[in-house]
Amino acid sequence: MVDEATQREAIRAAAEAVADRLEDEKTHLTDLDSAIGDADHGSNLARGFRAAADAVVDDDESTPQELVKTIGVTLISEVGGASGPLYGGSIMSASATLDDGLTAESSVAFAEAYLEKVKDRGDAQLGAKTMVDALTPAVHTFKKSIEVDELPPLTALAKATAAAERGVEYTVPLRAQKGRASFLGWRSVGHQDPGATSTWFIMQELLDVADDYLDGEVDVDASSPTIPEETPDEEES
Ligand code: ADP
Ligand code: MG
Repeated sequence: MVDEATQREAIRAAAEAVADRLEDEKTHLTDLDSAIGDADHGSNLARGFRAAADAVVDDDESTPQELVKTIGVTLISEVGGASGPLYGGSIMSASATLDDGLTAESSVAFAEAYLEKVKDRGDAQLGAKTMVDALTPAVHTFKKSIEVDELPPLTALAKATAAAERGVEYTVPLRAQKGRASFLGWRSVGHQDPGATSTWFIMQELLDVADDYLDGEVDVDASSPTIPEETPDEEES
């Protein structure tokens, strides 16, 4: 992939873009969290990602792996609540997959390690109405798009982001089983999960920055599922 200096620049640009987006979405995320939580998700994440972006902005020395680790460590120290250790701790520990820098392969390994860590730390399975519900389809779609369908990384990321969006929608009718929202029991049904939503927003920003650094264009059909194109008729002929 691209050289180390460009990877460093891309990581810093991504941290900046995510921090700006979460600042813009602070009220939106806090509104979602006030419906089924304690109204701090937007401010938690906006503050944390701003600190993380600031921590790497002038760093021209660290490897890409070290930069990602710094982002995770900063989030752990700046973000309280459930999402601090989930976002920060999982980014920190998944950064171990990046010792050869950012490639399509290491990005898949990072995504898988990140999902596993979130599930380990939060003890949340799919369907518990958490960020895991956006992450799981996103990570599986990303892996399949790269490893099975051999799509360009940018197209794979676009499909993964679209899968995260469907995951966010999927949280609405679920009953929360983890975190503060679970205290509401059935009253959590009908509300969109804040952590799944912030996960999707972050992926949208990663896609946007990847579009600036990777060859190719974001595939406009990327939101379509990765289903084989041939029809049964064609298979028979
Ligand atoms: P807190 O709930 O401590 O106030 P936040 O409001 O920052 O923390 O984050 C809430 C989000 O964290 C939820 O919307 C959900 O997506 C996620 N979350 C909470 N508990 C868990 C868990 N055990 N596993 C995975 N994600 C969780
Ligand atoms: Mg909260």
